[in-house]
This record gives sequence, C-alpha cells and structure tokens, in this order.
Amino acid sequence: MKIIIAEPTGLCFGVKRAITTLEEALKRFGRVYALGSPIHNPQEIERLENFGLAVVHEPSGVPEGAVSFVRAHGVTPEIFAALRERSANIIDGTCPFVKNAQERAKTLSQEGYIVIILGDVSHPEVRGIVGCVSGEVHVLSGAAEITEQFRGKRCGILSQTTQRVETFAALVAGFVSTTPEIKVYNTICRATLARQQSVRRLAGEAEGIIVLGGKNSANTRKLAEIGAVSGVPTLWIEHAGELERSWVRDKRAIGIAAGGSTPDWLMKELIQKLKMM
Ligand code: SF4
Repeated sequence: MKIIIAEPTGLCFGVKRAITTLEEALKRFGRVYALGSPIHNPQEIERLENFGLAVVHEPSGVPEGAVSFVRAHGVTPEIFAALRERSANIIDGTCPFVKNAQERAKTLSQEGYIVIILGDVSHPEVRGIVGCVSGEVHVLSGAAEITEQFRGKRCGILSQTTQRVETFAALVAGFVSTTPEIKVYNTICRATLARQQSVRRLAGEAEGIIVLGGKNSANTRKLAEIGAVSGVPTLWIEHAGELERSWVRDKRAIGIAAGGSTPDWLMKELIQKLKMM
C-alpha cells in the first residue's frame, strides 16, 4: 500500500505560534489559564495540561493576578477587557490572520456597511469577529441564507478564516446580483487555502483519504468535507487508534491530510500504524 502525505499538512503557522508561546509561558510561569480550548486538538491540550495548562470557560475562572492566555482564534473585545481586569499578565496568542479578520470587520462597520460574515455562528472565532462590529452584523453559512433584507443595501463581506473557498465565492456571487454596493475582504487564511488544495490533489491520487484532526476543529472539518465531496472514501479520525484494518483493506494508495491544529506526533503515529497494516 502506498501512503501519500498531503503537502502542506499539519500544524499551521497560527497554531505553531500559539503552542510555542504557550510552552514558553508554561516554562516561565508554571501555571497558565486559557480561556476556552487554546488549540482545537484534544490530544495536544492533554499534553499541555501535563505542563500546567488550565482550561477555563469564563474570565471569572481565571484567579485574580494569574497568567492568562488568549487562544489562536481570538476572543471578543469584552472578554479581553474582562481578562485584563483579573490577570496580572495576558499572553495574546491570537493568530495574525484572525486579527486581520477582526480588523476588517471593524473597519467595514465603521465605513457604514452591513457586515456579513461567512461562518459558523457558534464558533469562538466568529463570536470574536462579531464582537468587533459596532453596527449591523449577520453571520451566514452560505448563499442560501441571503434574504430580501439585504436587497439595495451596502454590504461588507468577509469570512471566518477556515471556510471553504467555493462557499465564500458563492456567497459573494449571491450578493452581486441583489446589492448595489459590496466590499469584500477575503479573510480565509493562506494556511487553510493551501490545506484545502492539498486534499483536492490527494483525491486525484488516492483510493482513500484519511483526515486527521480534532472533531472540534473547523478547518479539519472542511478538509473532511472536501474529501467526501470528491467522491473518494474519506475517513475523519482524531488519532491512529481509531483506524481499523477493514477500512484500509483493498486500497492501493491512501492519502493522509491533517488539520492546521494536528500536531506532528499524531501524524507520525498514524503513518506508523498504516505501515504495519
Ligand atoms: S488556521 Fe489559519 S487563521 Fe487559524 S490559526 Fe491557523 S493560520 Fe491562523
């Protein structure tokens, strides 16, 4: 069996940066409080918890004077302010691509546009971007959600950093036909674009695609969707232990792709297991 590894794959720039920053902070302070899961990979979080990471779900969970960490996908300005009140030290791990999306949303709003965000309304990154908008804002999951309320209005459109390019393009096209003025910022991050492209290439070469990454990771979910849409059998797992021999049997070439928050050690484990099958 041939194993084809997607290129690029694994940790994206933003997550690598967040993990390095967090590891340095843990070494220096011993205990660091992250608001929400700092990286969307349960196995990597468990590893960091062994070094002193504590995940809390509200700013009130951070003890007064403690060190806190802002995850790669950012928080709302209100949560940042609440952390500032409690923490002696805030380490900001927000990815620059996410910061860019937050800034673009803020600017569009200040320029008087209705802000339209392509994204998952419940995702922390999207909540953070929405929090930067002072005026009217809507989160849509695709072109099918464009309604008459936007007809004739000025709309500023951007995307959650991990959305599929095709979905964003279709949303923008939908607004072109109903709206006299649109301003578009393509805020899908480069790491996401490259990983999505790599899965499309795998689909042309492999008889099965394994997508490795956290079930809570938005960018991993999109990779699994792209694999499934391609028609090539696609399996989404979090770790090698979930892979069964029956899925691999009879496939001459297996492609592996990993989300931007999947650490290299999980990838190595999977390759090792595949080689033994
Ligand atoms: S997926 Fe993109 S936006 Fe998210 S952390 Fe990685 S580089 Fe940053």
